[in-house]
Amino acid sequence: MEEIVARIAELKGELNAVILAHNYCLPEVQDVADYVGDSLGLSIKASTTDADVIVFCGVTFMAETAKILSPGKTVIIPDPAAHCAMAAMCTPEQIDRVRSENPGAEVVGYVNSTAACKARMDVCCTSSNAVEIVNGTASDRVIFVPDRNLGTYVASKCPGKEVVLWNGFCPIHQAITVGQVSELRDRFPGAPVVAHPECRTEVLDMADHIGSTEKMISIARSSDSDDIIVLTEVGMRHRLEAECPGKRFHFPEHAVCSAMKMADLRSIVSCMEGMSNRMELDPEMLDRAYAPVKRMVG
Ligand code: SF4
Repeated sequence: MEEIVARIAELKGELNAVILAHNYCLPEVQDVADYVGDSLGLSIKASTTDADVIVFCGVTFMAETAKILSPGKTVIIPDPAAHCAMAAMCTPEQIDRVRSENPGAEVVGYVNSTAACKARMDVCCTSSNAVEIVNGTASDRVIFVPDRNLGTYVASKCPGKEVVLWNGFCPIHQAITVGQVSELRDRFPGAPVVAHPECRTEVLDMADHIGSTEKMISIARSSDSDDIIVLTEVGMRHRLEAECPGKRFHFPEHAVCSAMKMADLRSIVSCMEGMSNRMELDPEMLDRAYAPVKRMVG
């Protein structure tokens, strides 16, 4: 373990690379990363560094987002087969069809989508800013892709907008049930429940707080409770424990995204040594995908 960590540090220097790890990555991957966070925050951070190479430990849409924001840098991913199941539930052709069925509606797309889909959106959003982005659209009707759970949550906060929902979802958050939350509450009485908005509506209805992975950290920090029930992917435990020492975090234990665990120390070394698994995007698509991301970040 020490040897492989040392090798990663050596390669980082040789390549002038920055390593990014999503909050859901394996603990040992988070520990070798320069930055740990959500996909957009990481991509923005990497774009401001003078690194020549970005190693994105996460799923492919995250590496694509990093490439969209840093077209001049080389972006590599430890395992190119790490695809997000929710992002796969939406295609550019489907977006075109729904847009033609809803003339005048703006397409707001969650960042958890492929670059090809981003190229068809009017504006991109994250789970942190989705409500603000939808409220800020010029049209009364909005097509929200691809997460129906986040879309339903956003619609409830934007009464002035008609939100056309997509039928995509994150299988990991979708699998968290009311029964599991009740069981966690019974085991940890008094612990606040913090849920990610990718959870189902009936689960969100049980939560004391709803927010993105980054917001979960600020909620946990300011909570009076030492026990906190967290409804998201279990990889988040490592980050929460690092940021909030002394507190205990309780997850639905089956909430594991296998795609987010595909980057490990060996695959990081392998892609850095070979400079393999480069994220290449068609230049025209990259330009088109940049516009909705740029509109979001301003
Ligand atoms: S946790 Fe869900 S949204 Fe995140 S990468 Fe996995 S499948 Fe996609």
